[in-house]
Amino acid sequence: MTTHDNSKDAAQIGPVRSEIDRLDGELLQILAKRRDLARQIVEAKEAGNLALRDTARETQLLKQRIADGRDLGLDAQYVTAIFHEVIAENVRTQHEHVQAGLNGSSILAGSATIAFQGIEGSFCHLAGRSFVAGTGPEGGSPSFLGFPDYQEAVRAVESGRCDFGILPIENTTSGGINDVYDLLLNSRVSIVGEEKVPLRPCLIGLPGASLSHLERIYADPLSVSECSAFLGSIPECRIEFCSDAALGLKRVHESGSRLHAAIATEEAADLFGLAVLKGGIANQEESSTRFLLIARKPRKVDARIPSKTSIVIHTLNKPGALVEALAVFKEHGINLTKLESRPVPGNTWEEMFYVDFHGNSEDEGVKSALGDLTKLVRFIKVLGCYPACDVEPTAVEAQGPQPSAAAEPEACRAPRAEPAAPKGAAAKDKGYRLVTREHKESDTVIQVGGVSIGGGGFVVIAGPCSVESREQIMSCAREARNHGARILRGGVFKPRTSPYSFQGMGYEGLDLLVEAGQSVGMPVITEVMTTEDVERVAEKADIIQIGARNMQNFSLLKAVGQIRRPVMLKRGMSSSIEEVLQATEYILAGGNQQVFLCERGIRTFETATRGTLDISAVPVLKKRTHLPVFVDPSHAAGVRDLVIPLALAAKAVGADGIIVEFHPEPEKALSDGPQALRFPQFERMMEDLKKIQVP
Ligand code: PEP
Ligand code: MN
Repeated sequence: MTTHDNSKDAAQIGPVRSEIDRLDGELLQILAKRRDLARQIVEAKEAGNLALRDTARETQLLKQRIADGRDLGLDAQYVTAIFHEVIAENVRTQHEHVQAGLNGSSILAGSATIAFQGIEGSFCHLAGRSFVAGTGPEGGSPSFLGFPDYQEAVRAVESGRCDFGILPIENTTSGGINDVYDLLLNSRVSIVGEEKVPLRPCLIGLPGASLSHLERIYADPLSVSECSAFLGSIPECRIEFCSDAALGLKRVHESGSRLHAAIATEEAADLFGLAVLKGGIANQEESSTRFLLIARKPRKVDARIPSKTSIVIHTLNKPGALVEALAVFKEHGINLTKLESRPVPGNTWEEMFYVDFHGNSEDEGVKSALGDLTKLVRFIKVLGCYPACDVEPTAVEAQGPQPSAAAEPEACRAPRAEPAAPKGAAAKDKGYRLVTREHKESDTVIQVGGVSIGGGGFVVIAGPCSVESREQIMSCAREARNHGARILRGGVFKPRTSPYSFQGMGYEGLDLLVEAGQSVGMPVITEVMTTEDVERVAEKADIIQIGARNMQNFSLLKAVGQIRRPVMLKRGMSSSIEEVLQATEYILAGGNQQVFLCERGIRTFETATRGTLDISAVPVLKKRTHLPVFVDPSHAAGVRDLVIPLALAAKAVGADGIIVEFHPEPEKALSDGPQALRFPQFERMMEDLKKIQVP
């Protein structure tokens, strides 16, 4: 029997391994050099105004490499796969170079900080590192800052503490990450990049630990669902949730126990000096997570770079609303890549839809599609436009000339996007577009708590000027409901001319108003005066009122443009109709399409009434805008006896509704007592209104 001499083997292998190490080092040097050359090329392309990708040259290059490889005994598939990677990486480098020039800074600048959820070694941290590495450092690499949760990471970007943030958005196994979708909707950050990262979860423990002796496994929720089959196969082991994978490793490391393990990546294990106990534990072999890079401000995307745009829409609550909205993309030949739904907080069983599509938000075709969407949705927000992370692989065979559109059979031809300046461009010169009938011909109908505003009916909003007490608002709610009003009004933040007048009950009053509305099954409307109050009031009130004194408070208009509640905008007492339309445009341009207007009397030389009700504003506005138009006879008149005739005039002239003030004891009212109808007057007004028939 011959004995095998291991030391002899080792002596032979050693030098070969050294040679392999040396070659790999050279390979890396060459790859880095190739990337530098790609950068030089993109500079030359920029200077010569050339296309970023020359697909004919890429194909020819790839064919040559395949042929050369064959001569060296290398398989064509092997060579193709390697060069696809190399070319894709170089293309991404070129894109980031162009992007840095266009935006004045690189995402990869050494001074940049990137916020992520978790501690070093967490999935987000590793994804961020891969994002930065994927495109090559220019002048150092960014630094990373960890936060306990996604929300804090987003806040750090919003506040400017970090330049960027990295968030996971979807996973091939477990689907969309709901918390992140909700955060994107409710924060003021933009998506500026995406990255798909194959994160291969492994079971990790102290070196020498054995799978059969494990008692406890630490894992984050995403890993638990990704590795559910494996975890199910070791039922005797307790699963302990932790907020990120690296935290689990930290626990294992700190415990020093071979009975504990955690799920994380091999890369993260290295950071903690731990060992892989078992790899390949994910349900799907090819599992990857898509991450988004966010920033405080949007970044422009060069028109030559294939890009994606992400939006969120809140469709109308009617059959086929989503199909109609999605048809807009088809009509414009836009390719959707993702559709995800999330419930609307506060509106049970209503959904918001997140849509990703190929296209640049600055492209005229995309702009035209987004413009068309505003006509079909209640709310729209562009979350960001960013370079698509998937690089189209180089074709091995030259692509023949594309068939011309004329030669294509009609049925196969993609509908052509309107090239430029869509309808309503003339109106845009005036400072508004989305509000106009040229933009949207049909009446906008706003649905709120079972009430339809606009589109033919006549809605009465009634209630006191101010909420003063539970008893007062409850009695007003009953009176309103019993006599046919559909919406309950009540001011809680009052815009008083004098600082010594009653300023409103604030949030305590809001709770009373909401309680009163709920007790009679009516939606409520209340005024907001500051941007800080918008979100908090919108959580509870069904409709937000912007008062006459704030019609041109542009920050307030922008803030209500961001919310998912209808807004009633009152005409400023010294504002022209042009100014009303421009103010309204602010809200629509912000994303919120649910706005109705209210004529409430303007300042003239006349002193017999508080204001002069500009009754002709109603047909003028109805002609110019698709939005519902209301009248407020109370603030126009200033005295209760004039309110009824003005209310009747409003219906006769074609208003979509009125908003009136009443009070159980007008003499005791804390604001606007003289114009408050007494209950019997309100009842008479409701009867008289029924007699007015509008053709
Ligand atoms: C109100 O409706 O209570 C109010 C203050 O109205 P305006 O903003 O029209 O004065
Ligand atoms: Mn009032």
